[in-house]
Amino acid sequence: MDASEKIPREREVGPCPCGSDKRYDQCCMLLHYGRSQPETAEDLMRSRYSAYYFRLVDYLVQSTHPDTREPNLKAEYESNIDQLFWRYLNIVGSSKGTPTDKVGKVEFIAGYVGSTKPEELHERARFKRFKGTWKYLDNKG
Ligand SMILES: [Zn+2]
Repeated sequence: MDASEKIPREREVGPCPCGSDKRYDQCCMLLHYGRSQPETAEDLMRSRYSAYYFRLVDYLVQSTHPDTREPNLKAEYESNIDQLFWRYLNIVGSSKGTPTDKVGKVEFIAGYVGSTKPEELHERARFKRFKGTWKYLDNKG
């Protein structure tokens, strides 16, 4: 994480954007700073939502599976990440993705405000381990 992505201390001790009821520095921040690894696909899903929220482009890139990580992915995130303001995350359900699985799916609804009005993203995301660590594969679950 470079200096431009540094998160203010008051946000670190505030509630995590992923809706876990934990403080950010005891939840997704541990994954964002590489201090711990996601145990489940849902953990990674939540940390990616929080990364969108805090606009942590590098984390979004490195948590994408190499199989689907397009060469221009970072530029793509950088060009549009400032246009959306994320409001909430609801996990609808998940299958597999446990500490002993190699693949998993998480269905979620994420609310955001785009250019004008509030909208929702409803996605069935697929996750797959890479070298033992959960990565986001695609939204074709
Ligand atoms: Zn969190």
